[in-house]
Amino acid sequence: MTFRVLLSPPDTGELERDFVMRAMESGWIAPAGPDLDEFEAEIADRVGRRYAVGLSSGTAALHLALVAWGVGPGDVVPVSSLTFAATVNAIRYVGAEPHFIDSELESGNLSHTLLDEALTDLIAAGRSVPCVIPVDLLGKCVDYTAVTEVTTRHGVRVLADAAEAMGATHAGMPGASFGQAAVLSFNGNKIMTTSGGGMLVTDDEEVARHVRKLSTQAREPVTHYEHTEVGYNYRLSNILAALGRAQLIRLDDMLKRRRAWRESYRELLDNKPGMRLLGAASDANDNCWLTALVVDPEIAGVTAGELHERFTASGIETRPLWKPMHLQPVYRMFPATLDGSSDRLFRQSLTLPSGSGMSDAEFSLVIDVLAEAVR
Ligand SMILES: *Cc1c(COP(=O)(O)O)cnc(C)c1O
Repeated sequence: MTFRVLLSPPDTGELERDFVMRAMESGWIAPAGPDLDEFEAEIADRVGRRYAVGLSSGTAALHLALVAWGVGPGDVVPVSSLTFAATVNAIRYVGAEPHFIDSELESGNLSHTLLDEALTDLIAAGRSVPCVIPVDLLGKCVDYTAVTEVTTRHGVRVLADAAEAMGATHAGMPGASFGQAAVLSFNGNKIMTTSGGGMLVTDDEEVARHVRKLSTQAREPVTHYEHTEVGYNYRLSNILAALGRAQLIRLDDMLKRRRAWRESYRELLDNKPGMRLLGAASDANDNCWLTALVVDPEIAGVTAGELHERFTASGIETRPLWKPMHLQPVYRMFPATLDGSSDRLFRQSLTLPSGSGMSDAEFSLVIDVLAEAVR
């Protein structure tokens, strides 16, 4: 199936081409270079962190944060169940065990009440819990005010998976500024892209230094190749960092565009019984990476699956929310603290085209199909 309108394709143009060409012509092709240094400084500044380390993906950033913190076999890491698999894969790369936490029904983000319950039980059982990984779902920051109260009380660190949260805020602070470290993704479908890439951001100088070293094969600072620990080949390239710098300049314009789609969806669906937009009750600080529709089929008279079929028939790409990790064949044997919310959101949801590069004509087509379907 080739779609006429995609969910969230890359949005790049002349500025990106100019930045990449300039990096090529400068001769800084690989591995590092001045665009990478600048990109790190610019991202650190934008998200209010002291240090940023450019990496080959958000997944690599999650992985190296856990390695740098010494998380490993025998450790339990509570994590949002409603997330992309990458979050949990990283926990498994280091041999630790995930413990899945269910969602708040309104936003889909992890429930701090259930997190509190899980931490109380795990610590009472004598388990080692080095950190928690909350995920900022679809560009809405987790309620870090509530989550940090819980994690501080239990003495557990936070690794914030802010892969989807570039440009969002919570309590006046930028996404990725929360936790002892946070992770950004610049994958092709994210709000800004380096085609593939990610970043670890933190205020902890030692963690930043260690992650940077680990990402370039953990070479010791001597002339010959000397290694005292296992390294990785996870560094972001200078050429891709140049692309990221152009995207960062355009970020606010791209955010405006996604916000405009959100408002139009809201207008259309307001007062439609059995329909709501995920997290829209308090979305002023979201980046609107993806807008998701939640359908209660008994009230709406239509299912999310039927809407998906209608869109597909019109060449429009839509998709259910992440299938919760506690339901995934690869992860369902791990423990979880659940109340049924993420199961329900998975069954009843549909993410809608939200890309900043979508034209007005393409968006009109989406709105026409949706209006027809919900009439
Ligand atoms: C995209 C994403 C990742 C992984 O980022 P990559 O850059 O694709 O490796 C991790 N967590 C979440 C929540 C994501 O959406």
